Amino acid sequence: MDLRYTAAEQQFRTELREWLADVLPGLGPEPDREDWDARRAWDTGWQRMLFDAGYAGINWPKEYGGRGATPAEHLIFIEETERARAPYVGMNFVGLLHAGPTLIAEASDEQKAFHLPGILKGEHVWCQGFSEPNAGSDLASLRTRAVRDGDDYVLNGQKIWTSFGHMADYCEMLVRTDPEAPKHKGISWLIVPMNTPGIDIRPLETMEGTAEFCEVFYDDVHVPVANRVGDENDGWRVAMVTLSFERGTALVSDLLVSVELVRDLADLAKSITSHGATRWEDAGLRREIGRIAAEFDALWALTKRNISQAQRTGLVGVGGNVFKLAWTDLRQHMGDVAMRLLDRASLSLDDVANLPTGEHVHGRFYALSMTIAAGTSQVNRNIVGERVLGLPKDR
Ligand SMILES: Cc1cc2nc3c(=O)[nH]c(=O)nc-3n(C[C@H](O)[C@H](O)[C@H](O)COP(=O)(O)OP(=O)(O)OC[C@H]3O[C@@H](n4cnc5c(N)ncnc54)[C@H](O)[C@@H]3O)c2cc1C
Repeated sequence: MDLRYTAAEQQFRTELREWLADVLPGLGPEPDREDWDARRAWDTGWQRMLFDAGYAGINWPKEYGGRGATPAEHLIFIEETERARAPYVGMNFVGLLHAGPTLIAEASDEQKAFHLPGILKGEHVWCQGFSEPNAGSDLASLRTRAVRDGDDYVLNGQKIWTSFGHMADYCEMLVRTDPEAPKHKGISWLIVPMNTPGIDIRPLETMEGTAEFCEVFYDDVHVPVANRVGDENDGWRVAMVTLSFERGTALVSDLLVSVELVRDLADLAKSITSHGATRWEDAGLRREIGRIAAEFDALWALTKRNISQAQRTGLVGVGGNVFKLAWTDLRQHMGDVAMRLLDRASLSLDDVANLPTGEHVHGRFYALSMTIAAGTSQVNRNIVGERVLGLPKDR
């Protein structure tokens, strides 16, 4: 990958920057966290605007409706949208960042033709039904059954931690199609329409007070066999494709948000006074914040490598696991520094003393959740140990 920008790439940046400057002021304020219909309208509306302007699916191949951007243009897109503080993918996270890419890699022509435009235009929101109460890190132990009945599978079981399940139209779901086979060999990857009779969706409230997660119960749910992606019992392999996108390139925008947060943290340190001096005058704290900023820079370099590799090979590979591990560790460290700086204000989720303290407290919770989502740090350490360092297998 040549890291210098060509004239065409500079032109792409200029046009994108102008478009963002033109449309963002008209967007209006972001909806309240708990106003789910408004949040869906906001997220899908932004997606539709990207689609109409030719920016949807920035790195998706042109033949599937994407822009087919080069790795450099993809990075420019992420930089410019973050710089302009444009909306993030929000509820379109699963569809755009891992279900869609999995469909591109693995689905039939009919499945691609139906689903990919719906994701790109913001018409269909997707969720992920992988985890179960006894199958998180050990995902292959999942027990939700899919039994053949003519042209349908009949699903029975329970999923948990299904983000945005209550707002989704489709679910990328793992089911057990052969209970007799070794656990990794009896799984299939299905597209499940969330309005199918027999699906009971119950939102779960987190310690932050929001209900983004759901537990979802499946009771004799009929799903056409034609909705299977990949061969029957080959779903574990397809799931690994999904996870490689989820752990890798899907988190890239979050990295740039973190870079912005380091700046906000420095500003906060300049605003908080203790014993007659601002906290920014503490050389130790400045050094710690500077080091975090430098480490985020290093992760941005790793991201460039991962994106380049994904574009060349269609997959992110273990670089995605390394990125997720390092980024979530660093995000936690940054959160801890913020909590120390905030002192007692860190006990409140709301802003305190007219300072934007709530942002950092929410950020600390988010950092914790990201060490668990899409595979915990311990599990990622196992993967990096085995596949990068060649250490003996965990089990
Ligand atoms: C913000 C967020 C969003 C999520 N969204 C979704 C979603 O949309 N869809 C979905 O399907 N799931 C989702 N999840 C669930 C997520 O994938 C699981 O929480 C995760 O895989 C861990 O599984 P678990 O919670 O069952 O923990 P467990 O697997 O029970 O793990 C408990 C602890 O044991 C450790 N552990 C387990 N096995 C090992 C091992 N072999 N070696 C060392 N340590 C080990 C873990 O690291 C962890 O600390 C989400 C989770 C979060 C936090």
